[in-house]
Amino acid sequence: MTPTLIQKIFTDTAFVRVGGSPEELKAAEYIRDVCTSFGATATIEEFDVQMATMHTDTLTVDGVEIPCKGYLNAGSHEVEAPLYYLAGKDKYALEGCRGKIVLFDGYLGYWRYRDLLENGAVGIITYDGSVNYADRNIDRRELRAMVSEGVDKLPCVNINAKDAVALMKGNAKTARITLKQDEYVGKSRNVVLDLPGESDEVMIFTAHYDSTSLSEGAYDNMSGSVGLLALAEYFTTHAHKRTLRFVWCGSEERGLLGSKAYCADHEDALPAIKLCINLDMIGCTMGHLIACCTSEEAAVSYISYLGRELGTLIDPYQEVYSSDSTPFADKGIPAISFARVSPREAATIHNSYDTAEIIKVENMETDIALITVFAERMANAVFCPIRKEIPDNVKEKIDEYLCRKRKK
Ligand SMILES: [Zn+2]
Repeated sequence: MTPTLIQKIFTDTAFVRVGGSPEELKAAEYIRDVCTSFGATATIEEFDVQMATMHTDTLTVDGVEIPCKGYLNAGSHEVEAPLYYLAGKDKYALEGCRGKIVLFDGYLGYWRYRDLLENGAVGIITYDGSVNYADRNIDRRELRAMVSEGVDKLPCVNINAKDAVALMKGNAKTARITLKQDEYVGKSRNVVLDLPGESDEVMIFTAHYDSTSLSEGAYDNMSGSVGLLALAEYFTTHAHKRTLRFVWCGSEERGLLGSKAYCADHEDALPAIKLCINLDMIGCTMGHLIACCTSEEAAVSYISYLGRELGTLIDPYQEVYSSDSTPFADKGIPAISFARVSPREAATIHNSYDTAEIIKVENMETDIALITVFAERMANAVFCPIRKEIPDNVKEKIDEYLCRKRKK
């Protein structure tokens, strides 16, 4: 893929594309059309996702309205209660949540939500952004279906870090949250392209193309989507023994919904898949390339040697990557995720700063070149060298990542 085309794709897709939105559909059609331009026929596969239309979301603290965004799919509520800042994670800190609207640092994940619920919280305030950013943006979040599955929905709002700090500085006492929304089932999509090989064995390539609510998602993850397009284009004219399947996943940012839907809807196809190669955040200006191997340890050494052979600095390690590789690994398919990890000072994600500005086209080319060599060897090897087996230590990490087991 030429540097000009790489640049053009970033420019053409410089818009927010949240999972399930019309903009996500627009991006899916764009990716399909790029495939068409190099003579390959991709199809768009729909899957169900929870959607919501927010009518009212307000937070009032001691009579003053604080800018907020209500969590989608968190129900409709009106609640007033004392405000409590949960600064710690131990049980004494958690006991203070009873009957309170709880403000805490960080992300509202599965265990955090359940802890708050069990300890009697009646509402939740999260915050994001930074006191050091010039903007006062607020990300639109959701109470994920898997987080609230089987338990009550609490009213949740997200505010800006500057306001969170101001509330604590001012010893805020009483909060009131009002949420009114309609929840319904909508559609998100995966874009799927098959390049048939000589054998029945399949290698699957994944990259998500959706973004979060404030983000153009250039680095996270149009970069990986461009990488996948470059690989697909390459293999339309280069031999590959195995069948290559490319899946541009929708709604990854909403909890890997596209890759989970793919695995659920194509259970019959999974036995033939020998390896998953996932691209999530490549080509940024600063930082170094990593390969997260959710596989046997031997793959780590192999990729390390490959990097030395090609003269590309790469840091491979065995871990679970927070991306579309994990649902495949959970089905016993070894998965390698490639990413160029940037220092936070040079590139952040899930905010309005994730634009094509932080991408360096030469690094896109370097990253794509290494991944292409790796993919080509895996696609043409006599036997897929990476064993189709997930070691027990990795299985345990997958269980923790997918919230089936709590990390000690
Ligand atoms: Zn991502």
